[in-house]
Amino acid sequence: MGKGVAWILSVGNELLIGRVVNTNAAWLASKLTHLGYSVRRVVVVPDEEGDIVEVFREALGRADVVISTGGLGPTPDDITNLAFCKALGVDPVVNQEALRMVKEKYEARGYPLTPEREKMAMMPPGAKPLPNPAGTAPGILYEHGGRVVVLLPGVPREMEAIFEGYVEPVLRSRGPPVYFAEQELVVRGVPEADVAPVIREVMRMDPALYVKSHPKGFEVETPLLHIHIYASAEDRRRAEALVEAAVGRLKQLLIAKFGGRAEISTTQAPR
Ligand code: ATP
Repeated sequence: MGKGVAWILSVGNELLIGRVVNTNAAWLASKLTHLGYSVRRVVVVPDEEGDIVEVFREALGRADVVISTGGLGPTPDDITNLAFCKALGVDPVVNQEALRMVKEKYEARGYPLTPEREKMAMMPPGAKPLPNPAGTAPGILYEHGGRVVVLLPGVPREMEAIFEGYVEPVLRSRGPPVYFAEQELVVRGVPEADVAPVIREVMRMDPALYVKSHPKGFEVETPLLHIHIYASAEDRRRAEALVEAAVGRLKQLLIAKFGGRAEISTTQAPR
């Protein structure tokens, strides 16, 4: 069930030395999950050709959708597009549409088109450049053998704009329709370990259901837990009904087991 397996590849030394928090991966993971994909890997690699080639090759063998971020800019350490070509075993070509996009951005500001800037228009033959409304480097969309690979810039604003404008529609239309429903309960007064058997029982209701507790620490000596309940289904009403039924059962079991000790409330599920 679902639209397929997705891998997220985050390219950048800054992520591996802890200078930048990988918010792109979290943002993409949430987007892909809500679109109905099963995100099975988030892999962070340095700006090294060998590492990028290796992770693309692995992803191409195991994922239906691969999204990378970072390394599309003009500096010499921005090599994701070239490494991706190497992973495919093809020579990069200058895509004329991408070159026009890059040229327009620079010429509008009075800058010449240098070889470094031209590099941003290089991609595998047959790839499609995606306009970057918030920056200069175009994104890259490559569809082959039923797989979709998307290369996006690292700057979050640029990455998000390209994804929402040009990638989301492609991913939404791929495969069967999938709807994602979720709710979150807040439970005070019961330790996580004591709630675990209840969660296991609720999860047995349907294989499309997933229930996960997130301990939030102690609030004035009282354990505080968030329980995230979610489900994917090909029908919106079925996804919502599954979650609704699971929440009902969860509340019922918690009250039966812990009585007044469990203080239960609902909260907005995280997006
Ligand atoms: P551009 O094409 O705009 O030059 P780029 O594709 O070359 O971007 P990078 O140079 O890899 O992107 O990253 C640019 C900046 O974006 C980084 O300095 C960092 O602040 C931010 N960034 C990169 N990757 C991530 C990430 N995974 N999560 C959050 N921020 C990121």
